Amino acid sequence: MNAVLDANPAAAGRSATDASFEPYGRLLLLLMPSLRGVVVHDGFANLVWTSDDWDLGEHADIIRDSIANALSDVSEYPGIMREIDADSAAYSFAVRGEATDVLGVVTLVAKLRGMRTEAFSLAYVRQLVQPSLECLRREMTLRTRLGSRERDLSESERGLDLMLTMSSRNAVDASDADEFALILKAGIDHMGCALAALWVPDKNISLSLTRSGQPMAPEALNRARQHLTNWMQLQQRTLVINHIAKVVSNVAAPYKILASPIRNRSERVIGVYALFNPPNAADFDAHKARIAELLAKKAALIIQSQYDPNTGLMTRHAFERQIGALLVAPKSNVSARDSHSIIYLDIDRLHVINETFGMHVGDQVIACVAECLAQNLPVGALSARISGDRLAAMIPESDLEAAATVAENVRAAATKVNPRAGQGAFDVTVCLGVAPIGRSENPLPHALATAEIACKAAKDRGRNRVEVFQDSDQSIIRRHTDLLVIGKLRDALEHDHFRLDAQPILPLRGNYGRPRFELLIRMLGDRGEIIPPSKFLSSAERYQLMPTVDRWVVRHACQLLGQHSVVVGSGMARFAINLSGQSLQDDTFLEYVTNELKTSHLAPEVLCFELTETATIGNIAKAQAFMHTLQDLGCQFALDDFGTGVSSLAYLKDLSVNYLKIDGSFVRDAIKNSRSESMIKAIAQLAKAMHMDTIAEYVETDELRVRMTELGVDYGQGFAMGKAQPLQELLKELDIFEASVDIRVDPLVRAT
Ligand code: C2E
Ligand code: CA
Ligand code: CA
Repeated sequence: MNAVLDANPAAAGRSATDASFEPYGRLLLLLMPSLRGVVVHDGFANLVWTSDDWDLGEHADIIRDSIANALSDVSEYPGIMREIDADSAAYSFAVRGEATDVLGVVTLVAKLRGMRTEAFSLAYVRQLVQPSLECLRREMTLRTRLGSRERDLSESERGLDLMLTMSSRNAVDASDADEFALILKAGIDHMGCALAALWVPDKNISLSLTRSGQPMAPEALNRARQHLTNWMQLQQRTLVINHIAKVVSNVAAPYKILASPIRNRSERVIGVYALFNPPNAADFDAHKARIAELLAKKAALIIQSQYDPNTGLMTRHAFERQIGALLVAPKSNVSARDSHSIIYLDIDRLHVINETFGMHVGDQVIACVAECLAQNLPVGALSARISGDRLAAMIPESDLEAAATVAENVRAAATKVNPRAGQGAFDVTVCLGVAPIGRSENPLPHALATAEIACKAAKDRGRNRVEVFQDSDQSIIRRHTDLLVIGKLRDALEHDHFRLDAQPILPLRGNYGRPRFELLIRMLGDRGEIIPPSKFLSSAERYQLMPTVDRWVVRHACQLLGQHSVVVGSGMARFAINLSGQSLQDDTFLEYVTNELKTSHLAPEVLCFELTETATIGNIAKAQAFMHTLQDLGCQFALDDFGTGVSSLAYLKDLSVNYLKIDGSFVRDAIKNSRSESMIKAIAQLAKAMHMDTIAEYVETDELRVRMTELGVDYGQGFAMGKAQPLQELLKELDIFEASVDIRVDPLVRAT
């Protein structure tokens, strides 16, 4: 089996396929060792991944039939089975999205059984591979949500789609601009035109491409643009001009023209996709007109996915993508200032407006405020609807002062908004926060978060105002709630008003391995009351205090465990310490940990560190370096809250973690939700293949404990296995614990 798994590690590097599907392929191979190959197609029959160069060449009809079958069969994983040659059969399963849409097709080529040359039944195979189909569904759903628009095209448009994806294969992270470029290119390359243009005036989109690969000077196309957009708005349909002489002279240049309208969600024409050819070229025919319409529709889909329909501002995702591209782009102008600013806007008391006047008025207010924002931004700024009533803008090359002035103008303009002019007046006010985009590893999320804090401060200070985030003067951004908590937290950090609790993590099968515990921090209040981490960690995070908290935990854990090193060592217990993403970012944190280990004389093998999936993926380079150094010393690592991040299983192969902690939300669900159950099973299997152990969190009942065992999870943690207790008490009892566990003797305590 491993021979199959490892035989072709290079498959991941094949340029025509998407390597992030590899873990799923591996998982499938693992679930069904008689597999010879796995092929993944998208919902339009485009190949996306294949193991060992399988391409199903002359059996392409299987994919087509599988999609057709899925359209008529509503079961969860409709499939078909075909014997493709004397000794192998293909099983093809369609993967559905949240509705009944087909996200893709997974085809398994399996050896026929032994001498009897008999194929497994379709139902049997389906049952066998269901867990990994479930994982694939999740991956494919995420992808579609994250902007693959191909699916939106109907079945008849597959050919076109194929054409576009073929040309985009190499653009791994194609931006929307790249996708527009592909549409223009499709007009030139595949339809043999001399010039292609795409105009959407509202969105400031004005693009063109000639056969030389260069755009046309915009002025040269001004007249054509104006006429064609006007014509489209009036006629609302595709225009074909082959006979130039017949055309009103001021409409046509000496060109044959094929132009299709680009429509928004409500079918209003917002732009034009136009193709031009010299008079001696072949006529534009109905087929080309159809393709131009499809390309225009594709452009419309890109625009739709990029802009929020209510406000016309970008979506959060498009905003992040564009800014991401802008931040990594090389500076075209050396003298340009490289400081950018973020404005975060929140409409005051929108819920009151919604409740009093109805949601539709609330929507109007949001749209009007969005317009105030857009109108007051300088050229080159980007604006987005982040969520609900929250908007954001990025002003490139602007310092905080300039950005604050813009914010102030937006605030003033918003007070004049009155969507129900005349009847039942009400005031609209907004709060804005301004923050710089710094040079951290995740500059945009960080800037958005700080701008949001400044915006919250504006709310706390009486609304209808602008606050600027300034590192040097935190008084400006303090939120009332944070204020209290942060005061207490600083105090607790100074006077050690914390306690570490330890919760057991127990093997689910047999008494193997060493006892394990997760350390959990608690704050001690003035009257000795226990304050759980949920009450102070989020404030700590907003105030960048997590590295300080984590340092406290590391130091005290090392000290306490070091003092009991004989017990800890002979019992070989392991203790897991949670670390935050902020600590990973902190360049001096690693050194702190290694120093504490040294001075406490604690065997590094005693410690395991838990990093959340999100923090790790967000800082993958730093996380890897951090992990390698500590693993070399003997520490272990666990990936916490696994399954909740937006990351895919594909990241796993880049991370050398020892444990996956399956997030409690899946575990809790596992009894009644078969998808969660399948996910857990698949994670457990995949982890095995990658030599990791799995830990299920939130094992609250015996029923769950049994279930987790059946699903192949290695360890359980939760109220059914044991609650957290103070570490100091536990250390005293640890020898009792040891008695119940089968221990291998292994000298772990360093000679002191
Ligand atoms: P986590 O790392 O996912 O820790 C597990 C949390 O689930 C703990 O909550 C634990 O008490 C709780 N729990 C355990 N078993 C069960 C169960 O069966 N049912 C339910 N409902 N809950 C269970 P806690 O101690 O409140 O910690 C919450 C979060 O705070 C932790 O989530 C972790 O993200 C963070 N945290 C806790 N201690 C530390 C620490 O020392 N450092 C850092 N950086 N973060 C910490
Ligand atoms: Ca944890
Ligand atoms: Ca967790």
